[in-house]
Amino acid sequence: MSTIVKLHKGSEKSLLRRHPWIFSGAVADVSGHPEPGETVDVIDSSGCWLARGGYSPTSKIRIRVWTFDPAEEPGFDLFIKRLNCALDWRRKFGLLDGTTAFRWINGEADGFPGLIVDRYGEFAVCQFLSAAADIWKEAIVTAIRTVASPAGIFERSDSDIRKLEGLRLRTGCLDGDEPPDRLEIREAGIRFLVDIRAGHKTGFYLDQRINRFRVARYARDANVLNCFSYTGGFGAAALTAGARHVTHVDSSFPAMELAVKTMELNNLRADRFSVETTDVFGALRNYRDLGRRFDMIVLDPPKFAESRRQVPDAVRAYKDINLAAMHLLNPGGILATFSCSGAMDRSTFHQTIAFAAKDAGRDALIMESLEQCPDHPYSTAFPEGFYLKGMVLRV
Ligand code: SAH
Repeated sequence: MSTIVKLHKGSEKSLLRRHPWIFSGAVADVSGHPEPGETVDVIDSSGCWLARGGYSPTSKIRIRVWTFDPAEEPGFDLFIKRLNCALDWRRKFGLLDGTTAFRWINGEADGFPGLIVDRYGEFAVCQFLSAAADIWKEAIVTAIRTVASPAGIFERSDSDIRKLEGLRLRTGCLDGDEPPDRLEIREAGIRFLVDIRAGHKTGFYLDQRINRFRVARYARDANVLNCFSYTGGFGAAALTAGARHVTHVDSSFPAMELAVKTMELNNLRADRFSVETTDVFGALRNYRDLGRRFDMIVLDPPKFAESRRQVPDAVRAYKDINLAAMHLLNPGGILATFSCSGAMDRSTFHQTIAFAAKDAGRDALIMESLEQCPDHPYSTAFPEGFYLKGMVLRV
């Protein structure tokens, strides 16, 4: 018989709304001592069955729900079903068109709590971010192989989130071939090089895929400043769409090295781009002092707020860079600005940009509001899944 976890009276409410996390404070009683990741049955204070999930003894998120259906349980068959479902709808709705890289499994949204699976050409890259997912690693890897037979399956479980779940960080090959040091992918005809082993996240910012091309539509003939460029994604898209010149700025040497290689791979001539491996905050001040101006600026910074507590400081940092960017834009220029801080809600981000425009003495018109790419969906019952906000402004 499986372990039963009984909730405090009233704590079942979020589960009834299908929120997939149960916090430690909601737990009234546990029958036995479940291992990290072990599947448990959750009941309410009157004994009614609610859900089945993976237990994590150390995490504040004590249980991650696998299913609200008593007939279902985690295991190879369910994994096959959910992997197929996630692939089918992405294919049906065109999310696999024109790209060789996409997010296949986006955690809770695709029925795999704490699991990310990204596809890069012939390879699959996984992040096991919860004890619930980690305990099923072998079955999940076998299921991925069964559904897609990739050349290799690589693990990038090197996110600090694992520490909260009492798990050690781990990277390495899980199945099949070792990935090459640099793997080539294609997005809308543009070739990108991805470092699966050591690049950020699983190697590439797939969440910005559609946004790269949405933003590029405004780039014709523009002199573009691509801040926090990573390996050059927004810049390559802008140049391909007819930008005159792109200046990439990022503090990461390996990212800039790949950015240059990416430009070359796409036959973008050296006089159409430059790279500056430096801090963006300093670079923006420097450009102002030098009187440099741009027609388009992309601001895609890293997460400034890890938690709600850090939002006030993050607001100041977002305002700083957006204000500085607005000063550098020619009249009528385009600012494409993003926040990937999940702790910061959309209206706080909008307000921050509004304050920046006010201080810059510029009218900023929102032309487009952007979000994470649709292969990174989130449930209406699980707002925690929403993190990437962006807008295209005419300033
Ligand atoms: N726009 C990119 C993703 C950007 S991720 C794309 O589409 O692929 C954020 C980037 O900011 C990372 O590459 C990181 O190296 C860089 N970064 C973080 N802090 C920085 C700073 N203070 N100055 C410059 N770059 C920074």
